[in-house]
Amino acid sequence: MTLRKSWLSSANVDGTDFPLNNLPYGVFSPPGKAPRCGVAIGDQVLDVATLEEQGILVTGDTPICRRPSWNTLMNRGPVTWLRFRDQLTTLMSEGAAARSDVEAHLYPLSSVLLQLPFTVSEYTDFYAGRHHATNVGTMFRGAENALPPNWLHMPIGYNGRASSVVVSGTPIRRPWGQVKGADQPQPAFMPSRRFDLELELGAIVGTPSQGPVSVDEADAMIFGYVLLNDWSARDIQAWEYQPLGPFQAKATATTISPWIVTAAALEEFRVHTPERQVPLLPYLADTGPMLYDLNLSVTLAPSGKAATTITATNYREMYYSAAQQLAHHSSSGCPMRTGDLLGSGTISGADKHSRGSLLELSWGGKEPLTLDSGETRSFLEDGDTLTLHGYAQGPGYRIGFGECSGTVVPALANPFMR
Ligand code: CA
Repeated sequence: MTLRKSWLSSANVDGTDFPLNNLPYGVFSPPGKAPRCGVAIGDQVLDVATLEEQGILVTGDTPICRRPSWNTLMNRGPVTWLRFRDQLTTLMSEGAAARSDVEAHLYPLSSVLLQLPFTVSEYTDFYAGRHHATNVGTMFRGAENALPPNWLHMPIGYNGRASSVVVSGTPIRRPWGQVKGADQPQPAFMPSRRFDLELELGAIVGTPSQGPVSVDEADAMIFGYVLLNDWSARDIQAWEYQPLGPFQAKATATTISPWIVTAAALEEFRVHTPERQVPLLPYLADTGPMLYDLNLSVTLAPSGKAATTITATNYREMYYSAAQQLAHHSSSGCPMRTGDLLGSGTISGADKHSRGSLLELSWGGKEPLTLDSGETRSFLEDGDTLTLHGYAQGPGYRIGFGECSGTVVPALANPFMR
């Protein structure tokens, strides 16, 4: 497919994240007004709540858009998703008869406040990048035991906290936690000294399920994707993680980008998972291309300084697709809900400059990174701004995610001094 032309000229500009082919869904507040659903196009956001109220966008008896989340549409399923998207495409296409009716419902993106685009029901984070799991396993347990014995057989994960999910731009407070170095006889309670990012993609469940679902059913349940930064305190994690996995190390915050890029917009960027080292059990077997060719990168900007790109990788590096993760998640009978968020796991490539965390980039702090400003980093410093970027590149257009950004602010003086 080529660029779909819009009557809105900024949607046709080369390099825009939001051409007509994309139409990602967010929640925004126009200046001085209540939050509602909006759609990004070019450098504008389309107020779909007022379009729906005026009958320009036809959605049925129960309004979808006059709320601060997309969960109502997400819950309705793929037929409604497609009908809704088709209407938007028609309204914004070059030569559209409705142009004069629609123009009054556009706001410059720079003038609005963005919020979380959906109500996060539950949050699960996986560990499905083979290079990441191998790197971290090598550091924590040695090269021979790098991949856990179950790893090639199923996507492993842990249940995170929906309450920790925040939208891009939210400041991230350095956490306190219990830490114990290998050479220390006793643990201490202190601010994390090894605070880190994890570059991930978040998959959003649209239609809910009761009981196990197949990989194909799971794929059809996924409404869309966001960039996701799973902030991680490595010193807290190293002491707490056995045997039940990460807990407080990953509970401080998880930042997501403000626009849901729909599965429909990514359809033509599907790619296959990598070759299987061991066959997967039938319930997890690949049934078609279910990863996406998405260019991903991270920039780090120290306070008041220019940003340095610290890594560049691609979502196709994952070993398991979001559909396989969702199928596995449901395999025990676990009900899945509209608004469930599934983190992909850290997305690292094979070479050193494509690793998705500072833990890997600095190899546990042994090989600090040098930034363009001349400063070095093993882990995050107060004032650092981390920004995730992502897009799929089509012929003459891109499907962009917008930014997923957060600035680290200093730890509290002492959280228990009152
Ligand atoms: Ca993670």
